Amino acid sequence: MPIWTLDATEKQALLERFLRYVQIDTQSDEDATCFPSTEKQKNLARILVEELKDFGCVDAAMDEWGYVFATVPANLPAGHPAHSKVPVVGFLAHLDTYAGTPGGGVKPQLIPAYQGGDIPLPGTGERIGTATNPNLAHCLGHTLIHTDGTTLLGADDKAGIAEIMTMVAWLKAHPDFLHGELRIGFTPDEEVGRGTEHFDVERFRARYAYTLDGSDLGEIEDETFCADTAIVSIKGHDVHPGYAKGVMINAVRVASAIVERLPQGHLPETTEGRESYLHPYQFSGGVTQAEIKLLVRAFTEEELAEREAALRGILAEVQARFPGAVITMDVKTSYRNMAYKIAEDPKVLDYALEAVVRQGIDPLQKAIRGGTDGSRLSFMGLLTPNIFAGGQSFHSLQEWVSLEWMAAAVGVSLQLTSIWVEKSAE
Ligand SMILES: [Zn+2]
Repeated sequence: MPIWTLDATEKQALLERFLRYVQIDTQSDEDATCFPSTEKQKNLARILVEELKDFGCVDAAMDEWGYVFATVPANLPAGHPAHSKVPVVGFLAHLDTYAGTPGGGVKPQLIPAYQGGDIPLPGTGERIGTATNPNLAHCLGHTLIHTDGTTLLGADDKAGIAEIMTMVAWLKAHPDFLHGELRIGFTPDEEVGRGTEHFDVERFRARYAYTLDGSDLGEIEDETFCADTAIVSIKGHDVHPGYAKGVMINAVRVASAIVERLPQGHLPETTEGRESYLHPYQFSGGVTQAEIKLLVRAFTEEELAEREAALRGILAEVQARFPGAVITMDVKTSYRNMAYKIAEDPKVLDYALEAVVRQGIDPLQKAIRGGTDGSRLSFMGLLTPNIFAGGQSFHSLQEWVSLEWMAAAVGVSLQLTSIWVEKSAE
């Protein structure tokens, strides 16, 4: 099987696309209750619709929520053994960028052939260091894009968008390359965890999908956390503190006793890899009542239940110490490890790994210590592993990306489409 490389003109077009997209401010807003959380995400969405139409996706459109959907029609001849058998495959990327770092007025900087060493950021005098970015060593001779240091770059996830757009353009320019029907989706509000809120799986019409939203070359992510939020409420009893002896029950002290007892070995600050944690991330209240919100995270349902049981144990202990307090806990499900869903139909993952290998890259199967739109979609019936998009140091002023890795992600996506045709023909 050939390795799909972009020629100089196609690579230049990928670069120009990316540079254009990152200069459009699409930061989402954690505090907004509307959808999309910021209207400006639609500015990029509208441009993508027009470009998709130029590439022959006649149905390209943005809906009221800001989702862009489009179709690349299948081009298998009627007699082809995969004709009418190859499933519709989706490619997804998110429109928004992270809101915790300045993201408007991005001034992308270009290194045409990286020669090694730290990268100085002209806007601040800071540097992208080789010590904290070991992947720089793998990018010698590459075209690198970074910012001036005053904003993030937004390769998360405009690298993914530019790659998908380049794939669509490439397919139009190479009509002999056979593929099934592809669905393209660009989604708002991924960074605020709401990217699937109005995602209509039925209307998207893909049987399987991939997000292009990962980082390192060859990375395929098929696992996410299982995630719950535990809300602990404490009711105390307030009286005048001068006359409180034996009467006052201070909810602040009860809540503090709970937080103090959380096991040191199961905190975000002390865990990594496949380890689970309890994370008290919000603490509010007064003497009469207090509330603690905790994230509960683990890779299996069993371990998630263990963390929650440990928390219940702590509540029982504290209850015994403050018998007059009323302590209750409410657990809300956030999302589950998509590996559970992918295991039901693992070819969606197997083909992605094979696509990486066929592109001549070592696959790197990874678990994400977080959630993705793909994990939510997988539980909504659309299995969606994540493929690398090339960006590095996401969400930071030191964000950068290699054009060669972006081109490799396009190649992997092309490999994937032909693997689906090939396997469906068997
Ligand atoms: Zn992302």
